[in-house]
Amino acid sequence: MFDTRAVRKDFPIVRTLIDGKPLVYLDSAATSLKPRPVLDAINGYYTTYTANINRGIYKISEKATAEYETAREKVAAFIHARSKEEIVFTRNTTESINLVAAGFGKAFQKDDEVVVSIMEHHSNFVPWQQRALRKGIHFRIWNINQNYQLNTEYLDKLITRKTKLLAITAASNVLGIITPIREIVHIVKRINPNCAVIVDAAQAVPHFSVNVQDWNADAVAFSGHKMLGPTGVGVLWAKMDLLEKLPPYQYGGDMIKEVHVDHTVFNDVPQKFEAGTPHIAGVIGLGAAVDYLSNLGMAAVRKHEKEITTYTLNVLSDIHGLAIVGPKDSDKRGGVVTFTMKGIHPHDVAQILDEDNVCIRVGFHCAQPLHEYLKIGPTARASFYIYTTKEDIDALTKGLKKVKKIFA
Ligand code: PMP
Repeated sequence: MFDTRAVRKDFPIVRTLIDGKPLVYLDSAATSLKPRPVLDAINGYYTTYTANINRGIYKISEKATAEYETAREKVAAFIHARSKEEIVFTRNTTESINLVAAGFGKAFQKDDEVVVSIMEHHSNFVPWQQRALRKGIHFRIWNINQNYQLNTEYLDKLITRKTKLLAITAASNVLGIITPIREIVHIVKRINPNCAVIVDAAQAVPHFSVNVQDWNADAVAFSGHKMLGPTGVGVLWAKMDLLEKLPPYQYGGDMIKEVHVDHTVFNDVPQKFEAGTPHIAGVIGLGAAVDYLSNLGMAAVRKHEKEITTYTLNVLSDIHGLAIVGPKDSDKRGGVVTFTMKGIHPHDVAQILDEDNVCIRVGFHCAQPLHEYLKIGPTARASFYIYTTKEDIDALTKGLKKVKKIFA
């Protein structure tokens, strides 16, 4: 198990005073803070070997290319991919999913069906909804039960021979629940081996060990910035046969082998999907983030978050009028606790907490269909990571008591 206090020393921002007060950052589901080794890796590229990749016949370009490809290897190993060629660098989870949806959507035909869960983030909802609307195909929803769980028995009704795709999150950014992807994929493929499963792992890969081979889904998307890396870098992992079948997402430099006036020969996977100069510094930073998490160990990361989540669920349950949105059992959930306060708008909650630099997120958290299904308005969400301490949660509790006093 790692020492959170030692971990915090690696995060310059937690020592920064804002308006003379320390930061209590409880919005890691939106984006994580960044540790020194990640900042150094980015800075190192910019200060000592800035060059474009894949093209320079000189030392610093060769180093940049090597570091970029090493990061690809690190990411592949981190999620237990079969090869580094299965890793495509994108801008974020959203772009990874759109890349698949753009290619996949072309093959949709009348009477086809796509299924998404009701708790999807808009980035794994809207791309499929829009393609379904455009192609006039069936867009079906997998709802949660009253315990906020997806009932896998229901898959027998939802998935048919006409279902082309199931889009599902591995961990909800609102309810915190962790979905049993391996079991879901197994059931889906039993019903229809040709139904692809696309997993949104934005709240999974940063928080617990993910083994894409074990999951056996067809594609998995996640973002570097939620796992200690910089913004602007995301990952798409997919099975090689899917990557080979998907058309390029964008056209231009680097994604080609040959260009002639009358035709172009595209590059191999994954370069086929990485058109133009990529976010080189960002990818190198993500490689450093993967090293950082690997050194801590993902089992330890999960254990720490579970402890903080259990503590939070306990202390928040004592606040009268506060309702947790999601299961109460921290075994089934990640480090995200969403709540409402009776008679108080979440924006007021966040604003009062911000007076003491307690940062939480309020609104629909890019999951408006879920809020509508639950028949609730905007909610407040506190989310945790490796640097979150019980003192941070105590500051949240203190702030929430202040909110109650103001609105009493
Ligand atoms: N899916 C989930 C579950 C998320 O929490 C988020 C980020 N809030 C996303 C997708 C989108 O990630 P990004 O904005 O990095 O594309």
